[in-house]
Amino acid sequence: MKKCIIVPFLLLCFLSGCAAGRGDGQERVRSVILMIGDGMGLPQITALSIENAYAPLEIERAHCIGIQKTGSANNRVTDSAAAATAMACGGKTCNGMVGVAPDGTPLESVLDVAAENGKATGIVVTYAVTDATPAAFVAHVADRGDQETIALQYLDSGVDVIAGTGRSYFDGRRDGRDLIAEMRAYGYDFAPDSKALMSAGKAPLLALFDDMPYVVNDTLGIRGGYMGDATVKALELLEGTGKDGFFLMVESSLIDKGGHANDIAAVVAETADFDRAVGMAFDYADRHPGTLVLVTGDHETGGLTIVSPETDFRSADAGVEYRYSTTSHSATFIPVYAYGAGAEKFAGVMDNTDIAKRLKALLGA
Ligand SMILES: [Zn+2]
Repeated sequence: MKKCIIVPFLLLCFLSGCAAGRGDGQERVRSVILMIGDGMGLPQITALSIENAYAPLEIERAHCIGIQKTGSANNRVTDSAAAATAMACGGKTCNGMVGVAPDGTPLESVLDVAAENGKATGIVVTYAVTDATPAAFVAHVADRGDQETIALQYLDSGVDVIAGTGRSYFDGRRDGRDLIAEMRAYGYDFAPDSKALMSAGKAPLLALFDDMPYVVNDTLGIRGGYMGDATVKALELLEGTGKDGFFLMVESSLIDKGGHANDIAAVVAETADFDRAVGMAFDYADRHPGTLVLVTGDHETGGLTIVSPETDFRSADAGVEYRYSTTSHSATFIPVYAYGAGAEKFAGVMDNTDIAKRLKALLGA
């Protein structure tokens, strides 16, 4: 194990990119928690760090750090569908496509590989479970907008814990089917709000909420600690299945929405909320050897830059100004933070497809 110090902005140590003491390759990976901050790149993490007066973030506990390249099959600026397909399935596809190759061929996801290897599976998000990022782990559609078909594909997915919004795609459908009733008939318990989710006793569980506000707009207390609490609840339910480990995908979905709106307060609050959930997942990995936690984004949203308001900033610290350059996504590379068993596999520079390839190799062995 090469000892090294990780300095800001990912000047990776040649050879390892890992903090000393962990990620030594000796521990079998039994379970994986993949945490995706949608629209979260280094600018969003930097903004949170600055707003925290550079106090250490939970994410900074990571044992190994890497960088992923995010371009899609047809655009150097990816959308969430192509990026999630790359990270879930290991293949490049075109923007807008979910779980399929550019020619429409279905791609197998890491969640499928985990299930085939006897592991429990889960999806926890802060937006629709039928949205592009979670969909890439369970569904195969040529158009990410086809969310009723994505909901239908959850029916046969066998996913043990599903939590997020998007209820209308299940029971407010144009074809008149009630997928919630159908999944109940398959043995799923149903939770209509986060309170019911937190008191759920067993998997399989379908938790579908009407909508979720930003943390900063949470006047009704709907969000509260949902992200972290739902993550911990899902871990408890997945463990309770008695299967040999699990694969859980957690997405902080609204960082991206805040980025599209160029709303820095929403972005910082959502990133802070996500960071709290990351800390809870790292704590879980500490208590459960054999757990790998991988934290990354799918792309950066907003082209956020953090600059000095003063042209001459040599004399005094006049603070910083957050400036957005787009209401869409940017092509900037995205950091990868790895913690626990197998963390060393994610040090260095990689393609976004390598995340799925390496996770499949770890879980399929
Ligand atoms: Zn977006």
